[in-house]
Amino acid sequence: MSDDNILQRAPSQHLGPAYRSQEERPSATVSTKVAHENVTVLPQTPQLISLLTMIRDKNTNRADFIFYSNRINRLLVEEALNHLPVLPHTVTTPVGRAYAGVKFEGKICGVSIMRAGEAMEQALRECCRSVRIGKILIQRDEETSKPRLFYDKLPEDISERWALLLDPMLATGGSALMAVDVLRSRGVPEDHILFLNLIASPEGAANFAQKFPKVRIVTAFVDQGLDEKNYIVPGLGDFGDRFYTM
Ligand code: URA
Repeated sequence: MSDDNILQRAPSQHLGPAYRSQEERPSATVSTKVAHENVTVLPQTPQLISLLTMIRDKNTNRADFIFYSNRINRLLVEEALNHLPVLPHTVTTPVGRAYAGVKFEGKICGVSIMRAGEAMEQALRECCRSVRIGKILIQRDEETSKPRLFYDKLPEDISERWALLLDPMLATGGSALMAVDVLRSRGVPEDHILFLNLIASPEGAANFAQKFPKVRIVTAFVDQGLDEKNYIVPGLGDFGDRFYTM
């Protein structure tokens, strides 16, 4: 895809509250809209776009990349938790009044697709104390170019849990689709799986919607597409390298 095409197709939007004048609300590239019902894109707020701007910048150093991607991961986890069912729960406040609230009573677990998905675990732990976290290692087979399952270690009772699948970049979706197959083979219902990622490609989102329409995708941004090496564009490069080794 040429740069010209990317720029032409990228939607842009004024950011910030409508009560500000347009001069005070700079426009920026925002997420492409997708029609799939199972995809939830975070609200395109000035904060989110500034965090994404930091991690997309090739000049951002590793410490900042970790810090800013963690902030987006927190937003993703908080949004994913909104999709879990809650029950009515009334409490009494210190001044003796009743407050009619709600409470989540189910069980959850994280499942990170190694290695990049492990970068999202901290945000999950910050929101869900002592959460169980399983691991899945899937890598592309050099000979066939297809994803291959190398390793998985999941909680015994995962079939009774809501599974939050973690992988920051949804490119073609090959690994994540295989991870969903693994979870389903352990008895996790498709509609109990939420897939959290920072940036999705339209192709990956479409692949998921077609194969697993009940898996809820929670993403911060749907980008323009994939390049010839299946990197997301404009993207942020190799997430795992930038988080762990660069
Ligand atoms: N994984 C990454 O880290 N980056 C991409 O652009 C696609 C997959």
